[in-house]
Amino acid sequence: MKCPKCKETYDDNFKFCPYCGEEKPEPKICPTCEMDPSTEFNFCPECGTELVSKSQWEELKRKEELNKLNEQLKKYDLLDEKSLKYLDKAIELEPENIRYLEDKAYLLRYLGRYEEAIECYDKLIELEPKEYFHKDYKGDCLYALKKYEETLDISYGSEGSLNGGFFLEKIAMELITTNQEEEAIKYIEKYIELNPNDAFRWKMKVSCLSGLQRYEEEIECYDKLIELQHYDPIYWIRKGDCLYALKKYEEALNCYDEVIEQDKENEDSWIKTSILWTNKGKCLEKLGRDEEAKECYEKAKSLKD
Ligand SMILES: [Zn+2]
Ligand SMILES: [Zn+2]
Repeated sequence: MKCPKCKETYDDNFKFCPYCGEEKPEPKICPTCEMDPSTEFNFCPECGTELVSKSQWEELKRKEELNKLNEQLKKYDLLDEKSLKYLDKAIELEPENIRYLEDKAYLLRYLGRYEEAIECYDKLIELEPKEYFHKDYKGDCLYALKKYEETLDISYGSEGSLNGGFFLEKIAMELITTNQEEEAIKYIEKYIELNPNDAFRWKMKVSCLSGLQRYEEEIECYDKLIELQHYDPIYWIRKGDCLYALKKYEEALNCYDEVIEQDKENEDSWIKTSILWTNKGKCLEKLGRDEEAKECYEKAKSLKD
C-alpha cells in the first residue's frame, strides 16, 4: 500500500499509515476492467474509466444483478415455479425489500406449497406486525391445510382483518358439503357470536340442525329468524313441529294458528296445504280436543283431493 498523503509504502494489514498517520484509503477498482490498479490513481491506467471505491463497486454490482433478476422475474411472472430461484436470489441481495418475500409467499401459495408459504408469512408478520393481510394470507394457507382452529386463531387475532367471518363461513360450508353438519354448527355459532343479527347464518344453522333432534336449538333459530325477518309461514310451521316433538302441544298449536291467521290473505296460502291442518289436528288430538281434531283432518283430506 502506498500512502496517498506521504507516498510512503507500507504493509496492507495496517489501517493507518505508520509514517504520517493517514487512514488507509478504501481500495479502488475500475468498474470497466474490474481491475484494482492502485489507490494513487483516480482513473484506470488501462481504459481511462474513473475508479470507484470497492464498496461502491460492490453496490453497483449488486444493483446490476438485481436489475437482471427483475428482468427475469418480469419474463416468468409470479405464476411460474421458475421465478422462485430468482426471488430467492433477490431476497439474498436485498433483504430489506420485503416485496420479494411477499412475491415468494404469493407464488408458493399459488403453487400449493402452503407450509413453505407459511414460513414466508411468518417472516413477513415479524417484519410488519401491523399489516393484517400477511395474517389473512397465512390464514388462507392454514385453511388449505384444513387446520381450521389455527386458521381462525390467526384471522381473529389480526386487528382490522375482515377474514375472521370469511373463514368461518368457508369452514362451515366445507364441513356441510362433506356431511359434517354437527361440526359445522360450531363454526356457524362463532360467526353468529360476531354478527348476531345475520339472518342468513341463522338459516344455515337451522338447516344443519335439521334431523339432529336438537329441538330447543332449532326453536331458538326460528325465534331469531321471526324476529329478524318478515313473516314467513315456514318458520312458524317448523317451530310448531319442534314444539310438538317436545310434547308442548299448546305452544305448537299457537304456531299453526299464527299461520292460519297471517296467511289467510295470501294467494299461495299455507292454509291451502293439508300438512298444516294435519299437524294442527295432531296437536288437538293430543290435547284431547277430538272433535276439533276431526274437523282438521277432514279439512286436510279435502285439500288433498
Ligand atoms: Zn503516510
Ligand atoms: Zn479500466
